[in-house]
Amino acid sequence: LQVASSSIQATLPYHATLEQRLAEFREGARTDKGLSVDSIEHIEFHDVTFEYSADIPVLHNMTFSIGPREVVGIMGPSGGGKSTLVQLLLGLREPTQGQVLFDGVDVGSLARAELPRKMTFVPQDSHLFNGTVEENIRFMRPGVTLAQIEAACRAANLWTDVEGFDGGLERQVGDRGDRLSGGQKQRLCIARALVERPDVLILDEPTSALDVKSEQLVRDTLTELSESMSVIIIAHRLSTLEFCDRIMVVQAGRAVAFDTAEALERDSEFFREALAIAGMRSAEGR
Ligand code: ADP
Ligand code: MG
Repeated sequence: LQVASSSIQATLPYHATLEQRLAEFREGARTDKGLSVDSIEHIEFHDVTFEYSADIPVLHNMTFSIGPREVVGIMGPSGGGKSTLVQLLLGLREPTQGQVLFDGVDVGSLARAELPRKMTFVPQDSHLFNGTVEENIRFMRPGVTLAQIEAACRAANLWTDVEGFDGGLERQVGDRGDRLSGGQKQRLCIARALVERPDVLILDEPTSALDVKSEQLVRDTLTELSESMSVIIIAHRLSTLEFCDRIMVVQAGRAVAFDTAEALERDSEFFREALAIAGMRSAEGR
């Protein structure tokens, strides 16, 4: 009894923290007005400020819009606010001030459950689990058909690889996908994101280098996809910025520039600086 009692004593502070966190979580429950989302064409940030803790804004008064089938690169130094911006885009966080609008409708009014079908995210590190290629693409969406999975693989330039696999879609990918190459893992994650044919694909580009051929395949994939959806990519390589229609430079929580690469190279000190800060250099060695 004494041992039990002391081990209960030892865990009490954690319980207190847990209860406090739960209370905070319930307090912050988000509104869902359940408006149906048919498609997302225009994305608009209207004077968006975001704070993780009170009075410490991490994003400041961001105003911009992204049109249908646009390819937008987001770049800037680490800690500048790129990931936070993406979380706001995905509706995972709500602005402290200002509005995030999809086709003129505030994201807070939309049916939460529908949003992830229309706008999908490919993270920097592939999140694969030990299972088959098919299971990793279906990813707990039992309604997804084999035809959809094949179409997604084709769109992600993964189908040729799948056909070469022993067992095809049934092939086991191994722990965290370690039986696949880096390029295959990334294309598999893209296929997973494409299964329900989203209108907007958001990617955080892996920083670890892919081999030249894989990188080219991923780039071709994104170029093809951009004909049918908007692509927003947190870019860590200069070569990625080359196929973007416009590039947003995010520094210290502000969109300090948002224009074509040519215009930025010409006009924006920030762009050239940011290239250097992000460890990227212009191909011409400026
Ligand atoms: P980036 O993706 O450009 O590196 P982030 O959006 O991750 O930048 O971070 C922007 C700022 O917000 C940083 O100062 C970071 O420390 C802070 N931040 C990020 N995530 C959190 C969090 N969950 N809680 C508190 N602060 C955070
Ligand atoms: Mg980040």
